[in-house]
Amino acid sequence: MSKQRVVTDSMIGLKMPDSQRITRRVATVLGQNPSPFTGPGTNTWIVGTSKRPILLDTGQGVAIYADLLENALKELVGATELERIVLTHAHIDHLGGVRQVTERFGEMEVLKMPWEGHDAPAGEISAIGHGAVVHTEGATLRAVHTPGHARDHLCYYLEEERALFTGDVVLGAGTTVIPDDTGDLSDYMDSLRRLLELDLETIYPAHGPVIRNPKEKIGEYIAHRELRERQVIEALKGSAPLEAMAIVKKIYVDVPEYLHPAAASSVRSHLRKLEREGRVTEHEKRWSLN
Ligand SMILES: [Zn+2]
Repeated sequence: MSKQRVVTDSMIGLKMPDSQRITRRVATVLGQNPSPFTGPGTNTWIVGTSKRPILLDTGQGVAIYADLLENALKELVGATELERIVLTHAHIDHLGGVRQVTERFGEMEVLKMPWEGHDAPAGEISAIGHGAVVHTEGATLRAVHTPGHARDHLCYYLEEERALFTGDVVLGAGTTVIPDDTGDLSDYMDSLRRLLELDLETIYPAHGPVIRNPKEKIGEYIAHRELRERQVIEALKGSAPLEAMAIVKKIYVDVPEYLHPAAASSVRSHLRKLEREGRVTEHEKRWSLN
């Protein structure tokens, strides 16, 4: 009997080109910030068909990126200017490059959903929210609020291609981290289910390769979290109360040890969700089933 694959592809060792034209209205430039958490680095996206396109996400501010972006604009788009910057969320590997980009290409409007205390590295922003439409020549982007990974997270639906820029909500390989302090797993699951309702052909993720089977991928993401939840409950069954890291050691057997602290953050997110549902209790950082 064949078993459904549940997001096992890892981003470790994954290589991506520095820049690439994908369609006539979408090209990508890699943020040059590879790490265990960003995989090959952040994908930044040049969107639109004019000589003044939009830049969607800016990477982390790595010095060499500005030259790469300038070259990609020249060679892939024939452009020397940007119209404005659109951001998915406030994590530093997405907005950390804003100042570098505006220093190179001049001041421009920066659009994002505000998140108090997190937006300063982007300078002054123009606030947008769910349903906002950002228009440029050849491309119409509609913002979809998708909290969970981060509360300010916007995905952008590219109407002309039935494509979705998913930021960190759905990645090209592996899974995303739900931080236990600033994330929310219930919101995240709800966001994934709402994305399933969109008419989608393509996903342009912030990390890893373009996704051509979006419904299947989002379904896998939902199944993966449901599996982890069952595993967390299973780990606590008949056990003395456990710390989150002890649960990680039991169930993240396929994940390298240097990623265990991030896994513990996701496990704590599962535990907080189960706690809200009245299914587990915390006592001195140890968790048990009710
Ligand atoms: Zn993020």
